[in-house]
Amino acid sequence: MIRLEILGPHTQLLSTLCAKCPQGPAGCCKAPPEMDWSDVGRVVAGGGRDFVLSRIVKKELIPTERGLDLRRVKRREAPTDPMERKCVFHGPRGCTIDPAMRPATCNYFLCEDTFIEGGERKGERSAVLARQAHGALRAVYERWDAEMSARIAARWPEGPAWDAAFLDWLGETFVEMEKAGGTVLADLPVPA
Ligand code: SF4
Ligand code: SF4
Repeated sequence: MIRLEILGPHTQLLSTLCAKCPQGPAGCCKAPPEMDWSDVGRVVAGGGRDFVLSRIVKKELIPTERGLDLRRVKRREAPTDPMERKCVFHGPRGCTIDPAMRPATCNYFLCEDTFIEGGERKGERSAVLARQAHGALRAVYERWDAEMSARIAARWPEGPAWDAAFLDWLGETFVEMEKAGGTVLADLPVPA
């Protein structure tokens, strides 16, 4: 079963299948997404500037040319679990950080198995709406990210310094783009 929590850019799509993921205990957290510029901006806009700075110092978030990589670690959470390489933020009961501090993909991505289990092919409304929301969110984040990348390249041709001032700029730019986006995410499908 799929559940939608429609919250604009913070939307979460949740599946009951994830608790018994066919990919193993860490599920798709074995391959964490990048935290793109638009993700970092969203996290900072949500009050996460110091979170980002402290996790860079701890090398859990690693600066790249496109934003931040989430570090992967190799560990098991219980003696009976398989040893897995997975996101540093994955713990015994799933993700250990607040949804507002994650890349948006972590919140809106669902694999094909979840859509099958959720009954998309039989027209189950929540699964059909989740597919629409997934597509809309992916498109808008790709657009925001391309726009932020262009602005960063123009403003910091040598690459930005990962300091508080730069993060604040990312947060403000995200808020500005979200406002300019008008109804793009306001039109996300809402379950009845
Ligand atoms: S989305 Fe799919 S791969 Fe990821 S945890 Fe859920 S069931 Fe597993
Ligand atoms: S941030 Fe959380 S949800 Fe995203 S990959 Fe890491 S553990 Fe998984």
